[in-house]
Amino acid sequence: MYDDLLDEIKNVYKENQKKRRDAISIFASGYFSRAQANEQRLWSKLYDDTPLGPKVHNGIRNYVLKTSVRCAYCQDRIFHNANFNIDHVLPSAIFPQFTFTPQNLVAACVTCNAIKKETNFYTATSCMSQYPLANYSWGSFHPKLHLYNDHIRMIFIHTNHFAVRAFMGKSPEGVNLCKNFLKEVTEFTTKSPANPSIAHAVDSLQNFISSYAIQPGTNLQNILNQLIKYV
Ligand SMILES: [Zn+2]
Repeated sequence: MYDDLLDEIKNVYKENQKKRRDAISIFASGYFSRAQANEQRLWSKLYDDTPLGPKVHNGIRNYVLKTSVRCAYCQDRIFHNANFNIDHVLPSAIFPQFTFTPQNLVAACVTCNAIKKETNFYTATSCMSQYPLANYSWGSFHPKLHLYNDHIRMIFIHTNHFAVRAFMGKSPEGVNLCKNFLKEVTEFTTKSPANPSIAHAVDSLQNFISSYAIQPGTNLQNILNQLIKYV
């Protein structure tokens, strides 16, 4: 399961640097075993474990980038090595045993990665020692084991004065990811200052409501309450 990942890690050195390739492979395998033994915080420990740790990290980034052209959650394009974060689908703080499991590593844009943090959207529990397969009842869309287009419909419109991004679940798993996570991505994208026109609409509506002394609970007030979320 780890072979392709290890190959990519070895590839941070050239083909003829056999000793270095062997050494980094043994070093990385040691981390994989420690993860399987549930050691905590290995992701950051690896990064700080110079000189080989950051190189392993780079190898993992290359591995993830090879299989990702879009953010696993919002589908933003990933153009190069610098504009994505490695995301642990099952968060490594809760599932240390899957810190380096290839199926658990996806590319996420900086926004999605920051919003998701250490949230577990899935039915998987921290006591599992084997990574669940695609046919497991995940409960929510899994970006590496499910097909995005089978589960989520996405729309993204961006003009000079307006940006809106919306997601709709096409399956129960897709609906759950929208409810638990993508809703926040929508709110983040739609919030001002990306949308000065919404801020302007809120100002006008507030003025109108106060000048006519419109009471809470009316339709107009409800529309305002919805719009305010995006300002
Ligand atoms: Zn994203």
